[in-house]
Amino acid sequence: MYPYASPDYFLVDDLLTEEHVMLRRAIRDWVERAALPVIEDAAQQNTFPQHLIREMGALGVFGPFIPEEYGGAGMDHISYGLIMTELERGDSAIRSAASVQSSLVMFPVFEYGSEAQRRKYLPALARGEMIGAFGLTEPNHGSDPGSMETRLTRHGGRYELNGAKMWITNASIADIAVVWAKDDEGVIRGVIVEKGMKGFTAPETKGKWSLRASVTGELVFDGVILTEDHLLPGIRGLRGPLSCLSSARYGIAWGALGAAMDCYNTALRYAQERHQFGRPIASFQLTQKKLAEMLTGITQAQLLAWRLGILKDQGKATPAQISMAKRANVDMALRTARTARQILGAMGITGDFPVMRHLMNLESVITYEGTHDIHLLITGHDITGIHAFH
Ligand SMILES: Cc1cc2nc3c(=O)[nH]c(=O)nc-3n(C[C@H](O)[C@H](O)[C@H](O)COP(=O)(O)OP(=O)(O)OC[C@H]3O[C@@H](n4cnc5c(N)ncnc54)[C@H](O)[C@@H]3O)c2cc1C
Repeated sequence: MYPYASPDYFLVDDLLTEEHVMLRRAIRDWVERAALPVIEDAAQQNTFPQHLIREMGALGVFGPFIPEEYGGAGMDHISYGLIMTELERGDSAIRSAASVQSSLVMFPVFEYGSEAQRRKYLPALARGEMIGAFGLTEPNHGSDPGSMETRLTRHGGRYELNGAKMWITNASIADIAVVWAKDDEGVIRGVIVEKGMKGFTAPETKGKWSLRASVTGELVFDGVILTEDHLLPGIRGLRGPLSCLSSARYGIAWGALGAAMDCYNTALRYAQERHQFGRPIASFQLTQKKLAEMLTGITQAQLLAWRLGILKDQGKATPAQISMAKRANVDMALRTARTARQILGAMGITGDFPVMRHLMNLESVITYEGTHDIHLLITGHDITGIHAFH
């Protein structure tokens, strides 16, 4: 096991409270004890180690920023970020499960749900007794969710949901899904769909080479009948799903750091132990360049994430800042994983080391929650005031 704060070249730990450090240690210990022993096999088998969900609930990683009266932990956003880093140090699939549950399901139920919905769902989601999914992306609409085709049609006091969502994390194992659909006026509404409802199916998507230890699937709605109490009363319009994505992207900016740190630590140790031409490969300038650049990238990303966390706690973080951090940190993590894989030579492609698994996972992380290029366009729009999306 590496030191808890590894790497920490600019002593970012000094910026954390004692509670933060204790929290990180608890999450890290759990990842080492419970997740790492099963994750490589789960990824190889393309299955999700679902038994971890209850343990994660007991650990308090679901909705840590949700108030305690609804089952959350009422923690600050640096805490949320640290949790995400440590989970993704294990595997992006574990962090993804926590991101979806916390930011994409608990967040909208808390922010936009009725009091009855909060009480019904949040404590069970926090404990991991209930698994949530978030349905925004559709077969024909990914980066442009505002053009969604899923429809919520009103018939007197009831609503009928028709359409399909694709690439949905947790789809086939979810007990509830927060789904976004357009109503009769073309306004985007959030609804809570429960497993077992007539007309609702959630087939799993197989054959992924990335995030193999995560469940991905479709949500298909064929005349699903909903009542008013399934609608999130507190939100109308695209701002609803986008605010959830902002919360999740914030967590990803921290999470990607964990994958990068694990790759860096693995590569550094390997470079010191592996000998070629009678010397450790760490002694070659080209290897040192790789390691030095990896550490520089991680350090920059750590500082960016930490500052963003402070801004978030002060209520000042903008969606565009979050976009910049998600894009920059995931890009850094992917480059770090690729470089680490090279340092490990042939060993880098095996499951004996976590590097290839992280590398493949990060190919999803750089695409979901807004692609690398879409986040660039968000920054471009923020700078110039001009939309370059269409
Ligand atoms: C493993 C995994 C899990 C996921 N989980 C969820 C989930 O739980 N819930 C959910 O709702 N979604 C989920 N997604 C979907 C994800 O958010 C989408 O894949 C993502 O938003 C991109 O949409 P797309 O794949 O349709 O790509 P597209 O939008 O078709 O984009 C394809 C390419 O075109 C580029 N592009 C698109 N528009 C522009 C433009 N205007 N200018 C320049 N380039 C552009 C993109 O950057 C990209 O490179 C998941 C995806 C994956 C891979």
